[in-house]
Amino acid sequence: MTQTAIIVGAGLGGLAAARGLEAAGWQVRVLEAAPAVRSVGAGISITENGLAALDALGVGDAVRERAVRALPEGIFTDQGSPLHRGFQLDSSAIHAIHRSTLLDALREGREIETGMRVVGVTDGASGRPSVTIEHGAADPDSADARDERQRRRDRARGTKLGRRIHRALEPGDDPIDRRAEGRASRAQVRAVEAARFETIEADLVVGADGIDSAVRKALWPKARTDYSGATCWYGVVQAEADSPSGVRQYLGRGAEFGMEPIDGGRVYWWGMAHARMGRSSRDELEAARARFDTWAPEVRDHIAATPQAGIVRRDLWSLATPLRSFHRPGVVLLGDAAHAMLPTLGQGGNLTFEDAATLGILLEDHSRDEALRQYDRERVGRTQRFQQLSHRLARTTVQARNPVLVAARNGAFNLMPTMLAELAGDWMLGWRSPRHVD
Ligand SMILES: Cc1cc2nc3c(=O)[nH]c(=O)nc-3n(C[C@H](O)[C@H](O)[C@H](O)COP(=O)(O)OP(=O)(O)OC[C@H]3O[C@@H](n4cnc5c(N)ncnc54)[C@H](O)[C@@H]3O)c2cc1C
Repeated sequence: MTQTAIIVGAGLGGLAAARGLEAAGWQVRVLEAAPAVRSVGAGISITENGLAALDALGVGDAVRERAVRALPEGIFTDQGSPLHRGFQLDSSAIHAIHRSTLLDALREGREIETGMRVVGVTDGASGRPSVTIEHGAADPDSADARDERQRRRDRARGTKLGRRIHRALEPGDDPIDRRAEGRASRAQVRAVEAARFETIEADLVVGADGIDSAVRKALWPKARTDYSGATCWYGVVQAEADSPSGVRQYLGRGAEFGMEPIDGGRVYWWGMAHARMGRSSRDELEAARARFDTWAPEVRDHIAATPQAGIVRRDLWSLATPLRSFHRPGVVLLGDAAHAMLPTLGQGGNLTFEDAATLGILLEDHSRDEALRQYDRERVGRTQRFQQLSHRLARTTVQARNPVLVAARNGAFNLMPTMLAELAGDWMLGWRSPRHVD
């Protein structure tokens, strides 16, 4: 009998996992909280390991066709003096692509159920695992929404309402809480639950719902996230006369700027800088301009060319608690839900593709429970090494504000032979399929 999976989240990880599980013969539903599958304006660097995983997921060539492939141009000071340049090994090449282009390639026409926020999860310790969904996107009173709900209920095997919800919501959002507060009658609560909440069972639940994962909060309640002390602005512009041909990074005091060419003759840039948590500005473009005002001219040019509506700001958080296991009975985490890290190494997404490809292959070759055990063996150690490294790197980049430390860091980059840097990256960039034999 075909096994069924619910994937929570239609980001890079959820869409990649859908491909992996379908290839393994599983029947998959992808539930996305947002009203549409979307990506904020940004690019992403795909390295050799990520591309190998995308090949295993059957989408590598589509990505190669669309992305811009180039060797990194190097690392520079904030004034544009070279610190380290001339990467030569083929394995150092990066495929850079707009996130929307990548999401489209991964999705390839798959049906995604949007407006479906998962608010609770039950593991499969005594039965089948399940998720509880809050239908958010549609007006619950419209005839269309009622039809849609009925259609989903018919499709969902084992739908059961009113089951105890493992809390993943903030207090006050849960109808059970509302009843406890005496603000609603039992009948009203039941009506709300029936209209807005639905519990669906499957043979496997995949938590691909990012750093604030509801799946993780429900079943790994002690895991916590941490603010890095840095914020990030990013944008996409049409290529300028002084745009690079491959990724270029600039390191300053407590800040880093990067830019790389992506598909459509565009350039993706990002600027990370030390900042207090939760700060925002009414004019983020102006805030980014001011922060990088004294940097190399090409840095300022790319920020200046960004349309007002095209800039995004996001504080950088990571998962502070290393999870000893990425699974519970019948429930598994992947991507940022499992190992959110700082973007200093540009590996969060690449590792997410590795997770998805690994999970798909293991589920094809083994029973569910054995696959999840092996998934832990393949993924926990490797991803947590990257997490640690991304934090260490942050200490020498966006978190390095002491001028002496900055000078020492720049000196170290200057002295490091290119070949050494490339070879040091070798263990990182080698993803091995679980089917690999030495
Ligand atoms: C500034 C920056 C630059 C980066 N650059 C790179 C790079 O160059 N290369 C690289 O490899 N990585 C990079 N990363 C990391 C990479 O973006 C992430 O690791 C990757 O997006 C993780 O994918 P994900 O699918 O796990 O999570 P997400 O992309 O966060 O997707 C999670 C999805 O789940 C949905 N969701 C959330 N909660 C619920 C819920 N309760 N119910 C249903 N759906 C839900 C969300 O709406 C979202 O669609 C960067 C990260 C940042 C912040």
